[in-house]
Amino acid sequence: MSTLTSVSGFPRIGQNRELKKIIEGYWKGANDLAAVKATAAELRAKHWKLQQAAGIDLIPSNDFSYYDQMLDTAILLNVIPQRYARLSFDNQEDTLFAMARGYQGDKGDVTALPMKKWFTTNYHYLVPEVESAAEIKLRVESAAEIKLNSTKPFDEFNEAKALGIDTKPVFIGPYTFLKLARTPEATELELDKGLVNAVAAVYVEVLAKFNELGAAWVQLDEPYLVLDKEPGDVELFKTLYTKILSAKGNVKVLLNTYFGHIADVYETVNLLGFDGIGLDLNEGREENLEAVAKYGVASNTTIFAGVINGRNIWRNNYATSLGLVDALKQVTANVAVSTASSLLHVPFSTEGETGIPAEDLKHFAFAVQKLDELKEVAALADATEDEKKASAALAANQALFDGTRVAADPAVAERIGKLSDADYVRQPAREERQALQREALGLPLLPTTTIGSFPQTKEIRAERAKLRKGEVTKEAYDEFIKAQIDAVIKKQEEIGLDVLVHGEFERNDMVEYFGQNLNGFLFTKNAWVQSYGTRCVKPPIVWGDVSRANPITVEWSAYAQSKTDHVMKGMLTGPVTILNWSWPREDITHEEQTKQLALAIRDEVLDLEAAGIKVIQIDEAALREKLPLRKSDWHVKYLDWAVPAFRLVHSAVKPTTQIHTHMCYSEFNDIIRDIDAMDADVISFEASRGDLVVLDAIHDAHFETEAGPGVYDIHSPRIPSEKEIEDRIYEILDKMDVKKVWINPDCGLKTRGNAETWPSLENLVAAAKAVRAKL
Ligand code: GLN
Ligand code: ZN
Repeated sequence: MSTLTSVSGFPRIGQNRELKKIIEGYWKGANDLAAVKATAAELRAKHWKLQQAAGIDLIPSNDFSYYDQMLDTAILLNVIPQRYARLSFDNQEDTLFAMARGYQGDKGDVTALPMKKWFTTNYHYLVPEVESAAEIKLRVESAAEIKLNSTKPFDEFNEAKALGIDTKPVFIGPYTFLKLARTPEATELELDKGLVNAVAAVYVEVLAKFNELGAAWVQLDEPYLVLDKEPGDVELFKTLYTKILSAKGNVKVLLNTYFGHIADVYETVNLLGFDGIGLDLNEGREENLEAVAKYGVASNTTIFAGVINGRNIWRNNYATSLGLVDALKQVTANVAVSTASSLLHVPFSTEGETGIPAEDLKHFAFAVQKLDELKEVAALADATEDEKKASAALAANQALFDGTRVAADPAVAERIGKLSDADYVRQPAREERQALQREALGLPLLPTTTIGSFPQTKEIRAERAKLRKGEVTKEAYDEFIKAQIDAVIKKQEEIGLDVLVHGEFERNDMVEYFGQNLNGFLFTKNAWVQSYGTRCVKPPIVWGDVSRANPITVEWSAYAQSKTDHVMKGMLTGPVTILNWSWPREDITHEEQTKQLALAIRDEVLDLEAAGIKVIQIDEAALREKLPLRKSDWHVKYLDWAVPAFRLVHSAVKPTTQIHTHMCYSEFNDIIRDIDAMDADVISFEASRGDLVVLDAIHDAHFETEAGPGVYDIHSPRIPSEKEIEDRIYEILDKMDVKKVWINPDCGLKTRGNAETWPSLENLVAAAKAVRAKL
């Protein structure tokens, strides 16, 4: 039998972001729900057919989602908090969107579910909230409750079947679901027997249903299995799956793991009787291979070798993949090949990327190209030695990795070679700087500021498109941007913010914009990947050695400062974030690439300072995101170089220059010392939509950096009241020294509209003033 190929999941947003456009159109009232459903069905059909044409054996279904697969899982399990159910929409999509984005309208006013980073990716999932009253069950077609039924996975399976395509339904597994779910108080879920049994029972029912429908395989994703285990975790996993597997009938169950290794539970997992176990041989390679070699593979189990990287865009090295398959074949004959994770995290296709020379483009494989890679690796795995020698595919692939792809820049290596320990340390110590800065900047207590960007309106994006197409001159475009800056400064002054920003109107994106001014980057036209809901990002590609080509933000910041007497904050993206939100090279380490970036941004920091900018924010929005999933790796594999890289960026500024940083979704309570060790003067972070444990951590650790925990959620269009923000400030003051507190929203305002932004900020300033007055 030839080697089976399996795709864990496929991008769903569409080659040209069709899903984004139609859903956002629906939110704006530009099109109806029927149009959304029609586009969704077209996309699913297109994606299934593509995979079928590529010869993939196990094609996923139920990997589609209107917003997020974790939210879908919550709905599948009937984990729908009452406040959303109570809105009583006529259709379940509106309930789903209310859970995802909050709702403010004639049916009520509710905030969205919290959103968090999906493991180490830049994808975000909605955190399921299990109320104590929750009745966990599969809602299937019960007429009275049809509005919230859970037939999606079955409908999609049937939809594919009607097209003549047998699919493998994929789900987030019960273990990962329970480990990520929270209670309404945002505390960790208490896993009592009733809850565990109820969740297992739904999966049992799902499998029974797929037995009826005739599915050959069902894939249950358990990425949480690659994390360190807490007491009780292994027992929980066993309890869940003993129940589920005993009821699987004729359906084969593939336990899929990714983003790391499962060496610590492999022995147990292997004994449970899964038909397939998916292992990530990209991120968890050595440990997973060792575990398989040590404990073997149960006779009825197939190992799904995750060899095609679902998280980077470089061509697969076939020789390496074949070596991995061979290593497994030493242990078992039952080896399938698979994507290492869902392809959700890579762009759709390299087709149409005409801006990149063919010579360079051939080094990349996006989702569509990865399908062919998967098929080719499977074919080569079945080939004889002679067939391999004769294989044109293998030879062409080998040629990509032989020889130099791009010349090294000796000046970059030389500069790095000259760095000494002192280059990583800012003088004087922070406490001393804080006193000097307070005096130099003359700010009130609880200073108010924003995170940097203001709404990127249609007009702004249209103007940039015109510049790109040559329809306006650079001069005219610059004038246009200056007018935007003038207006946003005036508004900020009017509403009384303390530290102003220029609004970042000149930027398409906080990473690509910097990349465009650095040597060593490549850019795509259409390589979008989903970040959250309908939001997508288009990471640039690190192609060669990085250095700064020219000053990047200096002119804009200096212009903005010239227009106001307030302090104008300069705005940069930090090296760790630039790397994390780019497609990194695979031929040199992340540490090396980050150091190169740090030196480039350091040049920019010093130029901003020289241009009279007194406060400089260096965003490290993505620092937390790439923290290794296993604690033992945190420092040695990441923080030990990521934190110094940040210090290298700002270590040479004057004591009175205030360095800010910003982070998104900060679950950094566990690494609070490391955040302090970045030695910024001020940090702002997301806190309004997540839980508040970070405030306790700040308190308990005597956190030294001044901090602005976000006082309202910018990911939702809802306007927070002054009272709400005031309450929030008091919550913060409960835990922090008032001298160290800043008041700001929780992230940049780029994706918001002016209609909600300004009233929200007015309320923010009013709340800060009200609290100040009572101090
Ligand atoms: N300065 C950036 C902005 O305001 C920060 C964005 C982010 O953290 N994602 O958009
Ligand atoms: Zn942010």
